[in-house]
Amino acid sequence: MKSSTGGGFRYSDIRYSIFSDVMKKLEKEQKTIAVMIRIFCNAHHETSGKLLCATCTELGDYARERLEKCPFGADKGACSKCRIHCYKPGMRKQVTEVMRYSGPKMLKKHPLLAIDHLLKAKGLR
Ligand SMILES: [Zn+2]
Repeated sequence: MKSSTGGGFRYSDIRYSIFSDVMKKLEKEQKTIAVMIRIFCNAHHETSGKLLCATCTELGDYARERLEKCPFGADKGACSKCRIHCYKPGMRKQVTEVMRYSGPKMLKKHPLLAIDHLLKAKGLR
């Protein structure tokens, strides 16, 4: 039996890696929802590129704020499977519509983001 002295173990390393994992995940989620809202707005509200209508800009800001405040952090699954449902009803309806429309289109434009999102929605991640 060999006793472990735990050399080289530093709390700061762990804290940093958890922190950056959360950041990466949230960044990816924010990018995904931003792209979905853009696809939806461009198709429905006669906007183009990153210039969105007032409603969709508000929805995007709201989604980002909800993500930043998500209590699950790095353990966060798909919002659609979440037991909290932190979106207020009006916004939730809008974001559901956006995802229903843009989800399939994401596969073509941003396959990696879309696949990540789909796997999460199915609880495979
Ligand atoms: Zn719009």
